[in-house]
Amino acid sequence: MNDKPDLNSMIGAEPARSGLGVEALKRDIVDNLICLQARYPEIATPHDWYMALAYTVRDRMMTRRVATTHTYVARDAKVACYLSAEFLIGPQLGNNLINLGIESSTRAALDALGLDLDALLAIEEEPGLGNGGLGRLAACYLDSLSTLEIPAIGYGIRYEFGIFDQEIREGWQVEVTDKWLQKGNPWEIQRPDVAFYVKLGGHTESETDVQGRYRVRWVPAYTVKGVACDTPITGYRVNTCNTLRLWKSEAVESFDLQDFNAGDYYEAVHEKVQSETLSKVLYPNDEPEAGKRLRLAQQYFFVSCSLQDMLRLLALKGEPIARLPDMFTAQMNDTHPSIAVAELMRLLIDERQVPWDAAWDITRRTLAYTNHTLLPEALETWGLPLFQSLLPRLLDIIYEINSRFLDEVRRRFPGDDARLARMSLIDEHGARRVRMANLATIGSHAVNGVAALHSKLLEETVLRDFAQMWPERFHNVTNGVTPRRFLMLGNPGLAALLDETLGDAWRTDLGKLRALDQYADDVAFQDRWRGVKQDNKQTLAAQIRNATGIIVDSSALFDIQVKRIHEYKRQHLNALYIVTLYQRLRRDPELALTPRCFVFGGKAAPGYAMAKLIIRLINGIAEVVNDDPVVKGRLKVVFFPDFNVKNAHFIYPAADLSEQISTAGKEASGTGNMKFMMNGALTIGTLDGANVEIREEAGDDNFFLFGLSADEVERVKGDGYRPASFVDGNQELHEALEMIGSGHFSRGDRDVFRPLVENLLHADPFLVLADYAEYVARQHDVSAAWQDPRRWTRMSILNTAYSGKFSSDRAIREYCEQIWKIAPVKIAL
Ligand SMILES: *Cc1c(COP(=O)(O)O)cnc(C)c1O
Repeated sequence: MNDKPDLNSMIGAEPARSGLGVEALKRDIVDNLICLQARYPEIATPHDWYMALAYTVRDRMMTRRVATTHTYVARDAKVACYLSAEFLIGPQLGNNLINLGIESSTRAALDALGLDLDALLAIEEEPGLGNGGLGRLAACYLDSLSTLEIPAIGYGIRYEFGIFDQEIREGWQVEVTDKWLQKGNPWEIQRPDVAFYVKLGGHTESETDVQGRYRVRWVPAYTVKGVACDTPITGYRVNTCNTLRLWKSEAVESFDLQDFNAGDYYEAVHEKVQSETLSKVLYPNDEPEAGKRLRLAQQYFFVSCSLQDMLRLLALKGEPIARLPDMFTAQMNDTHPSIAVAELMRLLIDERQVPWDAAWDITRRTLAYTNHTLLPEALETWGLPLFQSLLPRLLDIIYEINSRFLDEVRRRFPGDDARLARMSLIDEHGARRVRMANLATIGSHAVNGVAALHSKLLEETVLRDFAQMWPERFHNVTNGVTPRRFLMLGNPGLAALLDETLGDAWRTDLGKLRALDQYADDVAFQDRWRGVKQDNKQTLAAQIRNATGIIVDSSALFDIQVKRIHEYKRQHLNALYIVTLYQRLRRDPELALTPRCFVFGGKAAPGYAMAKLIIRLINGIAEVVNDDPVVKGRLKVVFFPDFNVKNAHFIYPAADLSEQISTAGKEASGTGNMKFMMNGALTIGTLDGANVEIREEAGDDNFFLFGLSADEVERVKGDGYRPASFVDGNQELHEALEMIGSGHFSRGDRDVFRPLVENLLHADPFLVLADYAEYVARQHDVSAAWQDPRRWTRMSILNTAYSGKFSSDRAIREYCEQIWKIAPVKIAL
């Protein structure tokens, strides 16, 4: 008899680490539990199983990752480098399962092991390496780049502490440190061999070299080392697996031996600690914080490492330096990486001895700049003393760029001193400052805004002089979001219905959703559509109960506003409307009122007092309204704590109504608006950012428009806006503000909300009161539409049907064609 074990049936027919079948997955999960987690099944915790599963999925990505790199090198493919201080990538496991096409086989493998995939998915920590829309955009673009088989690298900072976790105590936001790496990160591959040195501080010295050339030497105060930490980024159902490369700062030497020998052990360790501080924590602000030395150091650190890495890869491909713009393009996501203009010049001139004019040509042809804001307070500038002391050599180079540039402006516009002052890299008003948006614009071959309206305003306002000088450099690329994460992963019920109705091509060709319009009036289809939405609302209701204890009725209209808390986004306008409804109910308890559940979510910058007060107000209103017997459950108000990508997955799909109510001209694009639309929410919104295009696509019948236009906003402000005048003629607005000021929502404390009410009455910089009446009127139309479920469902279907434009695949195609001139490269396994 043969007692030898049957090896084939034990290891299965599929190869270890790459098999995609149920048996191979099951076997490798247990294998990784033992070999990488050092645990055996009987004592493994859910977190151990999560890690074992994540490693099993990662193994499958590695074959693709290696094939991808190999192909790029062999093919001389041009690579898109996306430079961004933030990548809000969200949990990776679910997305990778979808992209690899192994979600159901993994579910079955786990089932066989007595485990539940959804429970393991819920364990994953959020990698919160971004503040909001800008960081999430970078993440959606990485997904699309891989899916479209575009050679790409994302470059950023590996923050040890990402955006803070938000807790709500007594109605106030409390910030809690985000320890996302505490239990290990299975997706990260550290590459100690890929490391670069970055100089900081000190001074420069000039000399003449042996060939008689003028040279500058930067003698830094200290040097830090940046080490690559890679996260593989799969594409959807393709073999491409690109890299997100984040830089972690380390001390050059772990101990300075001289200090150590001298007996100053603590001084030696101090330097190590200082170097590691650089990539410690993400600045939790949407807007730049003036004069933060560490922030400028972070920006320079990651940009320098990234550019050095690009030059290393260029050499690896055996290409001369002059070919850099043909082999790489570097897109600057806002001005945070704009020091790249000066740093690339420095690397070429000081370290590769490239002459100035050639270096400038290479730099400009390599770099491109995406602007993300028109708010003057959000345009980054750095005071000269700070800049000089941290980056002395870079400042020399900026002066030289500026002097040559201003000569060019003088030739084009002789005698126009005002123009020279506006376009200069140095702001000379008051204390002198370096203007990073000007630096990014001058050093780029392409500049783009992120929605049609935004790009137009950009050319008319903040970058007007530059657009006049180089009109051909200005572009628009309207933002997009990935339907893999925000439809397939977040809304599996809807994805299944779409597959069944249209086939599955919409997943990578979102324009295909247009064919849904044939079903908009189909009664049976409408019922199924509503069924999916109802399930999603029940899921959210359960999560709300879990997170807040509030019980909401899932048959109510779910009216949702989730995004960073900011005055320009006007969560307080929404809050004023809720107070108005509450007062109507108190006046007339029998009023036929459409039951609504208002859900808010979003973090406020820790130093932004007014935003934090808005959170307090929402929670104050919730406390009173939710329990008032006169309301009889018809209004519920929820502040969902700690809005992030992980909970965004189930929040967007549960919305009936999407609140996009920013002051016109202030929101560059928005991307939340697109996620809601794809998931069948109707929008109530202003003509701001991408709302304009959303309304164009959806049709004005399927969009609830209100408010002043961007032009009107400027006119009203120019004419000496008096917010109080809007209160005089509006009794409901008057009473709502009175009630907030009376302490009704702050347990009798009349002081708490005074700054907010006073600000609205006497300044109202974002025209909340000017837009209030029309907002309330449009909300009335929303309620009326909701009363007719067939009509509402039709509009909901049409919103999804016409959301195709807002796929990040479309946006990335536009970048490739208009700006990067990059084509796909197929990866064979
Ligand atoms: C999409 C998204 C945002 C951006 O939302 P806007 O409504 O465009 O401001 C912010 N945070 C998270 C977690 C997101 O997913």
